This record gives sequence, structure tokens and C-alpha cells, in this order.
Amino acid sequence: IRFTRQQGWHDARIQPYGAITLDPAAMVLHYGQAIFEGLKAYRQPDGTIASFRPDANAERFRSSARRMAMAELPDEMFLASLKELLAVDEAWVPEAGGEESLYLRPFMFSTEAGLGVRPAAEYQYLLIASPAGAYFKAGVRPVSVWLSTEYVRAAPGGTGAAKFAGNYAASLLAQAQAADQGCDQVVWLDAIERRFIEEMGGMNLFFVFGSGAEARLVTPELSGSLLPGITRASLIHLAEDAGIPVEERRVSVEEVEEKSRSGEITEVFACGTAAVITPVGRVKHTGGEYTIADGEPGEVTLALRDTLTGIQRGTFEDTRGWMQRLL
Ligand code: PMP
Repeated sequence: IRFTRQQGWHDARIQPYGAITLDPAAMVLHYGQAIFEGLKAYRQPDGTIASFRPDANAERFRSSARRMAMAELPDEMFLASLKELLAVDEAWVPEAGGEESLYLRPFMFSTEAGLGVRPAAEYQYLLIASPAGAYFKAGVRPVSVWLSTEYVRAAPGGTGAAKFAGNYAASLLAQAQAADQGCDQVVWLDAIERRFIEEMGGMNLFFVFGSGAEARLVTPELSGSLLPGITRASLIHLAEDAGIPVEERRVSVEEVEEKSRSGEITEVFACGTAAVITPVGRVKHTGGEYTIADGEPGEVTLALRDTLTGIQRGTFEDTRGWMQRLL
């Protein structure tokens, strides 16, 4: 779908996957005005295809567009694009019962040719899809994380709360450092004190305090510089349904290390569309490293994971009406 200030949204069409042409002065290539979303289409046991809260992705896409000084794609167009692409060939969505799904990637970037730095008046919205295999092929495996103190992902007043391409560009060097340190993922800290935990590379974080009937969850508050994850928001509701209190507040690296070592923090997990819920087993930083409990996936993590993946795959009751039929 194209947008121009004169014509608004127009020229919606589906075409075979292939290269697109851009003017060499297209503003996205120079100033990076580009946003995206990520969601999955799941085959349901009755053969229909549904997605998890796609209206929340549509809304976040509009909010990212506002932050990038772009026009907001109406939610109906966002949702229609998902349905129309799936309708081309529903065999793209794998059978029910497995861990596979079809990943959907809506994105939008400025196409107007111009070398002056200003908000573009022309963009293109595109949707592509890609098969997503099981994230954990050999069972759920805890990841190791590197606390990045050298680089920050986002600062107050910046773009961290938008799903903006530049946030990911800014994260690549720290991700490479994490890999050099033998870690799977980066954990970002706040830009001012470099002390408060924000989020992981592409996932939000939760800390489990205590266990059994005493278990409670703590997650970093939406500081304005971390992405408000849809999985995060959903887990807050699911935990409350399960009688697990949830606190949204600032969480410092010292608190996590101290309370993990003392056993007060019993589990840490990350959540997002791609992996749904991933246990965190080991934390490394410039001053040393430690494991969370015994480094194995914890029971609260696995129970929430079962509930959420069950809702998404249509095997658990969807009491909140989160699943939306796409086909
Ligand atoms: N943080 C970042 C930086 C992300 O890219 C993502 C993935 N969209 C998330 C958190 C998790 O968000 P969601 O649960 O909406 O996938």
C-alpha cells in the first residue's frame, strides 16, 4: 500500500515476492524512517487460521508511525493486509498441533526522494511472510545474557518505545559483543544510570520472586525507552488470572544479582512473539557471571509458557478473546 499526502493510502495490491525499486534519494536510505511489526499466524485445531492480538500490533504500528512523523495506517488496512496475504495460499500456515507457525512482518518506510532532513510525505507499507519453525527444537533451553554497560539501546525522549528500524541497527554491535562473550542475547540497561534493566534484544524480561504459592512476578516498568511488548502485557493478565501478583517497577542489576545469589529470585524469563517465553539461565557482565537458581527452566516460566502457547494454538480456552480469526 502506498501513501502520498495528496492521495492518502492507495494502490493496495499483492504481488509475487521479489525485489522492489527505490529512488537512490529515497529518504529511508539516508535518514532511516522505517518501522515494523512482527506477529504469527497459527493454524487452529478446527483448520482455521488465527493470530494473537493482531489489533495490538496494528495499534503499536500506528504509535511507531507517530514517533517517526509518518501517517498512521488505519487498523482495518493493517488487518485486511494480513487476511488478504494469507488468502493467497493458506497452505503457507503449517498444520495444527506442532510448534510451527507463519511469521508475518508488516513494515513501512519513506520512499520520497529528497536530501533535506524532514518528515517524508510518501511511504510504502509492505507485508511479507516467512515460515517460523519451533524456536526450541530440542526442548526449552535457558539462554545466557550479557549486560551491556558500554552501549545503550534507547534514551529518554528517544525512539525505544517505537518498533523503529534504527533501534535494531543501534543494537547490532552490542549483540556481537554478547556473542563474543559466549552469550546468546544482550540485556539493555537504562541510558542515564546504566543500572536499571530495560529489556533484552527482542524480548521483555520478567523476574520470579519466591516459588509455589508464594511466587510473584516483577517486570521493568515501561520507562518510555523500552518496547511495550504485547506478550509482556498479555502475561501480566495471565499471571493475575493464575493468582500470581505482578509488580511493574524499576529493577536494578544489583538487585537481580544479589537476590539471585540469595535465592529470593528463583526464575528469570524473557518473552516476545518469536520465542513466546524463554528462560534465562546465566547472566554475565564486566564484573563476573552467575546462574539463576540451578540454570534450568523454572516451574512458573514453564506453566506460563504452556498457557500462552496453548491459547495461541487453540488448545487452551481463550477467555479474553485474544485470538482473531484471519482465515
Ligand atoms: N522488545 C523488543 C526490542 C522487541 O523487538 C520485541 C519483539 N517485538 C519485544 C520486546 C517483544 O514484543 P512482543 O511481545 O510484542 O513481540
